[in-house]
Amino acid sequence: MIQANIEELRRENKLSFSENRRGNHPFFIWPIQKANDVTFNEIYSIYNYVDHNTGFPNQLTDYNCGMRTYDTAAGYNHEGTDIVTWPFPWKMLDDDGVEIIAAAPGQIIIKDDGEFDRSCTFNNPDPWNLIVVQHSDGSVAAYGHIKNGSTTIKNVGDMVSAGEYLGIVGSSGISTIPHLHFEVLTDATFTTIIDPYFGACNSTTADSWWQAQKPYTDPGINAVLTHSAAPVVFPPCPTSETPNLSSDFETDDEIYFTVFVRDQTINDNVTFEILKPDNTSLFGTWSATASATSPSWYYLYGPYSGFFDMVGEWKWQATFGGETVTHTFNVEAPLNIEEEDFNQTSEYPNPFNNVINISSSTKIVKANLVDILGKSVLSIEESLEGITRIDLSGFSNGMYFLMLESDANEKKTIKLIKE
Ligand SMILES: [Zn+2]
Repeated sequence: MIQANIEELRRENKLSFSENRRGNHPFFIWPIQKANDVTFNEIYSIYNYVDHNTGFPNQLTDYNCGMRTYDTAAGYNHEGTDIVTWPFPWKMLDDDGVEIIAAAPGQIIIKDDGEFDRSCTFNNPDPWNLIVVQHSDGSVAAYGHIKNGSTTIKNVGDMVSAGEYLGIVGSSGISTIPHLHFEVLTDATFTTIIDPYFGACNSTTADSWWQAQKPYTDPGINAVLTHSAAPVVFPPCPTSETPNLSSDFETDDEIYFTVFVRDQTINDNVTFEILKPDNTSLFGTWSATASATSPSWYYLYGPYSGFFDMVGEWKWQATFGGETVTHTFNVEAPLNIEEEDFNQTSEYPNPFNNVINISSSTKIVKANLVDILGKSVLSIEESLEGITRIDLSGFSNGMYFLMLESDANEKKTIKLIKE
C-alpha cells in the first residue's frame, strides 16, 4: 500500500521524496505527547521493542539483547516500538489524552481512519487506523492503532513538520490496549525494518535514529494522584477506567492516594510522604519494594480519614527512578452548611472581641474552634443546656473557623474574626 500510494503521488507529480534512500536518516523526536489539559507527570510506558530474532515462537532479542519484545506462533516478529498509555489507557482514549505527533518531518503517504478503536484481542479482524509519513531520505514511519476519527485533517500528499499532530492513541486493529505502534521502514519495497534504537543486538542501523534515545529501562513516575473513592484501574477490557480523581477535600473526608510508575524492576524502592500545610509529615516517610518487574505498576494507599485536620494545601509525593513528583491537594473546613435547617442560627458579634454569642432555634450541642492552620484549639460539648455563649478572651487575635453541631446532627461552619 505504501508503494501503491507513492506511485499514485508520483503520477500526480506530488511526490516529495524518492523511495530510494538518499542523504542522512531523520532524527526522531518522541512520537507522543500529553494533551494540553493532562496534568499527569508522564503518560506512557514502552511495552515492546523490535524483535531481531527471526526465529519463533518465543525466540526474542530486542536491540539491547534483552527480551522486551514478542513474536507469534504464526511467525510474526514484532516490527516496531509499542508505546502504551499509562495510567488509565481507555479513559485517556475517551478524553483524547495522548496525542501522536510526527517524529520527523515528511509527506503523508497513508491515512486510514474510520475503523473500530477498542480492540482487546489479537484475533480482531478489523484493520487499524494508520498514518504513514515519508521522510526526506525515503524512509517511512508508520503510526498505528490510532483512535477512530482522530486522524489529522491533512491528507495523503500533504506535508507535516516534526511534532505536528497526527492522531490520538487508540486500540484499533490487532491490539489489546491503547498504544502507539511506531514502525520505521526503508528501501524501495519498504520491507526493510529499521529499529531506531542503537544497541548491540540491532544490526539495522549503526547509530540511533532518535534525537535523544531513551534508556533501555526508563523507570519513572507517571502520576501521583488523590482520589475521592478507590480508582478502578483494571476494569474488563475495553471498559474505561474510573479514576475518581479529586484534589479538593474537607477535613472529615476519606482520601485515597495512588502513585503510578513505569518500568519498575523487582526490588526497586518507591518512597512516599504526605505533608501537611506546615510541611510536617503526616505519617513520616514510608517505602515499598517492588515485588515484580513490570512496565506499568501502581501503588494504592487509603482510604485515610480523620487525619486531615489542618486546613490548607497538602502535598502527596513519591520518589522513584531518581525523581520526586509532588501532587498538591486542598483541605478545607466542611462548609457544606445545611442552611435550610440551620438558618435560624446566628453568631454575633463578628468580628468579636472576647465573647461570641450563639442564637439558635435548634440546640447547639457541640462547638469546635479551628485556627487558621486547621488545628483544633477548643472543643465544647453541652448537650443539656445547649451552647449559647463562648468565651474566647484567652485566644490571640486572628481568623478562626467555628464548627457547630446541633442535637439534630446539623452542622455549620462559620468564619470568625477576633479583634
Ligand atoms: Zn506493536
